[in-house]
Parts: sequence; C-alpha cells; structure tokens
Amino acid sequence: MSLANPRSSALRSVGAAVPRSGMDELAQALRSLPGVGPKAAQRMALYLLQHDRDGAVRLAEALLHAAKTVRHCEQCNTFTEEVVCSLCRSDKRDPSLLCVVETPADLMMIEQTQAYSGLYYVLMGRLSPLDGIGPKEIRLERLIKRATDGVVKEAVLATNFTNEGEATAHYIGELLTARGLKVSRLARGVPVGGELEYVDSGTLAQALRERRTLGS
Ligand code: ZN
Repeated sequence: MSLANPRSSALRSVGAAVPRSGMDELAQALRSLPGVGPKAAQRMALYLLQHDRDGAVRLAEALLHAAKTVRHCEQCNTFTEEVVCSLCRSDKRDPSLLCVVETPADLMMIEQTQAYSGLYYVLMGRLSPLDGIGPKEIRLERLIKRATDGVVKEAVLATNFTNEGEATAHYIGELLTARGLKVSRLARGVPVGGELEYVDSGTLAQALRERRTLGS
C-alpha cells in the first residue's frame, strides 16, 4: 500500500518545489471571474501572453483603477466613483419613486427601457436563506432608511422573478407597506424564473408600466 503510485507523489513533491510562475499566478487570478475554471483560466492567460500583451496591460491597469476608485453610492448603493452618483443627483428624476433592484446590471436594464423616471436602490444581492444570506447580509436596514426619507411615496420592487427574487420582493414589500409606503411589483411580462438582465427592453418597459400594487 505504501508503495502505491510512487510516481505521482514524486511529481507532487517536485511540483511543490518549483516556484510559481507569473503564468500560473495569472491563471489563478483569472479564476476570480465567475464561471471560469482552471482550463479556461489557463487558456485566457495563454491568449493574453501570446497574442495580446497590450490588452493584458490595459486589463491590469483598468482592474487596478476600478478596484481603487469604484465605491457604493451613499444613496442608491450602486457602483460609482462619487459619493452620490449622477443618477441620484439628477433633478430630472422623480424622487417620489424608488425602484428596488438586485444588481447594477438590473438598474442599467431598466434605464435602457426609458420607461422609468424615478430613483433606484440597488440591493447588491437578494435574500437567500439557504446560502446564509438574510436581511442583515444584504443590509436591508439601509433600504428601509432610504425608502422612509419622507420623499419616497412608492417603492417599485424589480427584483428577479426567480424564487429568491420573489421571496426578497415579498419580504421587502411587507416591511415597506408596514411603514405606510405604496409598494408595487413589476407586472408579469417578465417570465417566471426570469432574470431582468436577460429580458428584452420592450417587455421590461411594459412590466414597469403595468406594475401592480401590493397589499391593497
Ligand atoms: Zn446613487
């Protein structure tokens, strides 16, 4: 038994003694990207080094710049380089409407419809009890504070139509109606299980226009 597979243990010990190469480190770093496994990471690393050194440098600089400067807007929680983002500062928006979305990508999708003129709150997640993500983890108290500033009259819940998105909308809906706000949910133009990011602009615009009021 102790002699089983001596080659592989020899290889392992040789491997451990070799210092990590820049190539390995790059591949390992690329695995931070969602859905990128070891093989894909290695392919990307090879590609950048072999075919696109300038691209690799641009990527490195852009990553460093973004990681240093991008923060969360104090009002809507989306990504911005400012304390309060330009959308929150705009006087062309209706401050009595607050649309609650899961991600900055969802905010961008709704902006593309040009069917919504209010402000936003970005949860940066959703409730997911099975993954240990509860109201504290997504800091719902910040949303409550934002929505009860006295100016917001209606909260439009635009979380995804997945089980978790629906549960999140339900939970937030209860919290905000209890605080006297009108709460509405996107209409069912968005398919069951649908993520806003993948819904076409026309459908999303219709879902916004035909949103239904909750709890009334
Ligand atoms: Zn903002």
